[in-house]
Amino acid sequence: MIKGTNKIGYQESAQHAQATYAFVAATLESLPEAFHPATGEEVDQAAQKAAKAFPIYRALAPRQRSEFLRAIADEIEALGSELIERVMVESGLPEGRVTGERGRTTGQLRLFADFIEEGSWVEAIIDPAMPDRKPLPRVDIRQMLQPVGPVVVFTASNFPLAFSTAGGDTASALAAGNPVIVKAHESHLGTNDLIAQAILHAAQKTNMPDGVFSSLNSLGYEVGSQLVMHDSVASVAFTGSQRGGKALFDLAQKRQRPIPVFAEMGSVNPVFILPEAMLVRAEALAQQLAASITLGVGQFCTNPGLIVTIDGPETRQFSQELAKAIEATQAGTMLNQGIRTNFEERVQHLSTLDPVSMLGSRLNEKLPHTVKATVATVSGADFMEHPHLREEVFGPFSLIIICADRQEMENIANNLEGQLTATLMTENHDDDVVRTLFDILSQKAGRVLFDGVPTGVEVCHAMHHGGPYPATTDERFTSVGTKAILRFVRPVAYQNAPQNLLPDALKNENPLGIWRKINGQLTKDPL
Ligand code: NAP
Repeated sequence: MIKGTNKIGYQESAQHAQATYAFVAATLESLPEAFHPATGEEVDQAAQKAAKAFPIYRALAPRQRSEFLRAIADEIEALGSELIERVMVESGLPEGRVTGERGRTTGQLRLFADFIEEGSWVEAIIDPAMPDRKPLPRVDIRQMLQPVGPVVVFTASNFPLAFSTAGGDTASALAAGNPVIVKAHESHLGTNDLIAQAILHAAQKTNMPDGVFSSLNSLGYEVGSQLVMHDSVASVAFTGSQRGGKALFDLAQKRQRPIPVFAEMGSVNPVFILPEAMLVRAEALAQQLAASITLGVGQFCTNPGLIVTIDGPETRQFSQELAKAIEATQAGTMLNQGIRTNFEERVQHLSTLDPVSMLGSRLNEKLPHTVKATVATVSGADFMEHPHLREEVFGPFSLIIICADRQEMENIANNLEGQLTATLMTENHDDDVVRTLFDILSQKAGRVLFDGVPTGVEVCHAMHHGGPYPATTDERFTSVGTKAILRFVRPVAYQNAPQNLLPDALKNENPLGIWRKINGQLTKDPL
């Protein structure tokens, strides 16, 4: 049952005199439950509790934390259809997508549980003492990764489950040994409430300390800003707009003790189609891209927003086929009014620009509560001349850039900003242009794909979902996959520390049985 309260550890709280309401994404009607925004005092209580829980939580054995993560997954599943229905109402996403996203969320929690039980992720490194070394003896130095402290998670509007309350940021922060405070997104307050309750049930069942998890509602930016500025908060995870991510990043740098903000802010995810690919599969490429552009009404940070081609009859056929396929798709409900207005205004603006040609007849028409996917074309030269055409249009839109030749294609690649993904569609992997583009795109993007669409982001050990600014505020880290845990830890070296005080991962006998690097060699052997 949705309660509308703030969850401050195990305590529910509703001090604010005002209430805020969730809404039906498809009709913008208000839903009945009142949600209480957190007051300044409640923000402080949540942060203080997280700080108190931290030393207890971080000292737990990995197995205890993994039990907690698995219990969260079980509790989410136990919410059954109540959760699925609420997500559908609040997000406008269809049942299949929501059920799939729930599976991804619980799968991700269980993956992190297995990952921390296996244990090698702490990167234990031991350089034992060499008392007889000449000319100077070597001291005993051991290092491993340790959790940083309370993490604030700003949930994403476009993934109400997988990038939200119990999503990848929360899962990785908890897995590392940090308490989490979630700032609920106004687009899915009820979903957040249900998941927060599930997390707290799991915490109680597995005897986690009070304060290991809190969830706060907000009215405007005050709660989020206060959380980022709170002394007890050690790190921030965010998925959303460039404006929001950068504002929170800047705020965190103004603190007495600046802290990291890991903001994933989306990108235009260019797809480069080489002429050889166009020649043999223009129609198939059009179908493949149309499906990717319209998936989830285009509300993916990996939506292919730019398609870079070289002029020719096949490219013209591709553009027509893509426009036809896009036009044949149903109009879709967007996640919230703000996102929909942004989309409509951006597309409307593009349609007024001389160098941009909108494709298709029904494109860009105003529809009640839904939007229609749209594609447009621009020449390579005009694209280079108008830098604002590189900005993301969040939603089902893609700009086809028609280059005069391969050199222009390369210039466009060289002029791209940081991207989450970049894709190469080609038939000839030995081509010099492909090699050059591969090299350029490897510098520009966090993930380089061949012959696929970027919208699927596998949750696995090798995934990197990040990229140079403005795709993220820290290109060294991913927000998807097990390496996401590295955002919320820091290395600590112990010099000549006694065995009884060392963490288990660094003790001589290797009680956890994990892989460690001893004198530069990976081994599971005791010392
Ligand atoms: P958003 O406006 O960036 O908001 C995300 C979260 O950050 C919300 O909880 C918001 O609070 C908070 N926030 C934003 N700016 C803040 C500030 N200056 N101080 C404190 N808190 C702040 O993103 P959105 O609402 O999800 O969607 C808006 C646009 O973001 C979309 O049109 C799209 O362009 C982009 N977007 C990108 C991605 C991505 O993949 N990276 C995902 C979703 C959306 P409130 O709840 O109070 O507004």
